[in-house]
Amino acid sequence: NADTMIFASRIEEFVKGNQIAIFSKTWCPWCTKVKTMLTAQGKQFQAWELDLDDDGVKVQAKLHEISGQKTVPNIFVNGVHVGGYSDFSFYDTAGLLDELLAKQNLDFDYDLVVIGGGSGGISAAKEAAAAKKKVALCDFVTPSPRGTIWGLGGTCVNVGCIPKKLMHRAAIIRQDMKDAIDFGWKLPGDILDITHDWGTMCKNIQTYISSLNDQYIQQLKDNNVTFYNAKASLLDKHTVRMVDSNGLPREVKARNIIIAVGGRPTHLDLPNAPELCITSDDIFSLKHPPGKTLVIGASYIALECAGFLKGLGYDVTVMVRSILLRGFDQECAKKIENYMTSYGVKFLKECVPTSVAKYTEEDGKQLTWVKGQFNSGDLFEGMFDTVLVAVGRTALTKELNLDSVGIEVNSRNQKILVNEKDQTSIKNVFAIGDVIERPELTPVAIQAGKLLAKRLYKAGTELMDYNNIATTVFTPLEYGCIGLSEEAAIAAHGEDKVEVYHSTFTPLENSLRSWGTEDTNNAFAKLICLKENKEEFVIGLHILSPNAGEITQGFALGVRLRLTKAQFDGLVGIHPTVAEVFTTLKVTKSSGEESTAGGC
Ligand code: FAD
Ligand code: NDP
Repeated sequence: NADTMIFASRIEEFVKGNQIAIFSKTWCPWCTKVKTMLTAQGKQFQAWELDLDDDGVKVQAKLHEISGQKTVPNIFVNGVHVGGYSDFSFYDTAGLLDELLAKQNLDFDYDLVVIGGGSGGISAAKEAAAAKKKVALCDFVTPSPRGTIWGLGGTCVNVGCIPKKLMHRAAIIRQDMKDAIDFGWKLPGDILDITHDWGTMCKNIQTYISSLNDQYIQQLKDNNVTFYNAKASLLDKHTVRMVDSNGLPREVKARNIIIAVGGRPTHLDLPNAPELCITSDDIFSLKHPPGKTLVIGASYIALECAGFLKGLGYDVTVMVRSILLRGFDQECAKKIENYMTSYGVKFLKECVPTSVAKYTEEDGKQLTWVKGQFNSGDLFEGMFDTVLVAVGRTALTKELNLDSVGIEVNSRNQKILVNEKDQTSIKNVFAIGDVIERPELTPVAIQAGKLLAKRLYKAGTELMDYNNIATTVFTPLEYGCIGLSEEAAIAAHGEDKVEVYHSTFTPLENSLRSWGTEDTNNAFAKLICLKENKEEFVIGLHILSPNAGEITQGFALGVRLRLTKAQFDGLVGIHPTVAEVFTTLKVTKSSGEESTAGGC
């Protein structure tokens, strides 16, 4: 009828007449957000406040008919219907608003293409698809120099957290079997005669991983995410080139791109090292038992692998360039070294490899001959069945063609540079997970991916908080921590502002242990507190104990919420547990008193 024709032409006129046209309501918080954002960016816009217009209800009904959108804000840019607040913030974050304002014609195959199907990429893809966006994810695994390859799910699932934790578990079971004797279990035969079958463990772990690979493919299907098993690179800021394993290329256009390609183990810069040594990419599916093993490196991966290999019964030596666990609390690192030494792991301190070579014994057995040099100038030489290199990881950015697209990377480590919104130097391209300079941990990548997709497509505003991330090193005696190390706390706040509470104790589960060379009185807990006025805020929590990961996960919340020592003291413990130690810590380091606890 005539009325609706009038409203239609008024709407058309308003949309055509204003580069940015907003149908709004004065009381609507989402409308206010859009107007505030545009004002802050100095962009001209015109808002039609429907609640102040006598015909507002009718205009809104017509608008619904025209745009398919019932709600406000209802935004048009250069005559193109952008949508509501979340669509608008996506356009804005991705730099598409500027393109629309420049009257660019956008023609995309996907709203989002995610490059990398690991922890971060899958999380972002699923969240974006849940917001009804058209999403594709491409993942491709280049075989390791030793030819190891795996399926969808990235590092964590295939060659990281999952197989590592299962092998750690396998090693702990050996300890449990020994403990069983002290608890009265009669094992058939001598404990020393019990042997471990590497092949069975690997086969079962790999079968489990295959089932996870299948689940990830199914999850993408269920979420309507198109999966390309292809290697991707960027042709321009909206075009992704993919090449599958048969060499077939394909190009897709995406409004938005998330790079989540992670990293791969760094190899030693020595001739033949990639061919003769293995890395964490290979250890979890090694076809034969590793035998006498040299582990090169002294951080998470090196110590975890050394720990489970020793626990499974192999002869293990760790070559340490400088210190153990750089960046971690060094008192705890020292305790890990002491425990692992008593566990039977040998350490070559302040030593670097200088050559690796193949050596064939008379019976045809292949060994790797490693030479090294200590800081003192002394030389090292040894023969090993396996040499496992764990000297850090390299971000997989080289083959993405980032340079020609204008995406900046850190020249030191090739990691992609992003702002606090995980946005690269190109506005519609984002990066998350191990490929950026943030903690290289699975839950970090997952959370960053989820929050990024929410910000892009669900009007989310929450930024990823990369501070106070809890972590655990799964060494034979686990080490969990969150917050600052003692060294970092003192460096940041000064010694007089920092109070350290600590306790060394025997976990009850170890109390009957009569075998082994390890010290059973090995658990250690430490709270690092910042003295402010009369309060002490807990800024670092460290625990060395069985199941330290489980304990740290729970207490991490308290540290993130910036609880005080008094609040920890006020928490009633669960007895008898290891974790209750954090409710009863009394001895301060500054008192010089003995920190070893006795009794119950
Ligand atoms: P990834 O999971 O590495 O996924 C990236 C994916 O992108 C890979 O599948 C890769 O092949 C693919 N890809 C790369 N380039 C391309 C391309 N051009 N085109 C298409 N696909 C591409 N973290 C923990 O929190 N707890 C642990 O206990 C733990 N243990 C670990 C143990 C080991 C041995 C290792 C190596 C890591 C461990 N981590 C652990 C770290 C954790 O695995 C990583 O932080 C996490 O997997 C990073 O996720 P991401 O999504 O950034 O990358
Ligand atoms: P890191 O980068 O943490 O450590 C590298 C280690 O290798 C250091 O000890 C370093 O010594 C040593 N190193 C480096 N270059 C050489 C060299 N040329 N010769 C001899 N030694 C060398 O790497 P990782 O591989 O251990 O771990 C990578 C990341 O994976 C971790 O940061 C962590 O975020 C994640 N991860 C997490 C786990 C968990 O949550 N439990 C488990 C495993 C990995 P120096 O100190 O002298 O530099």
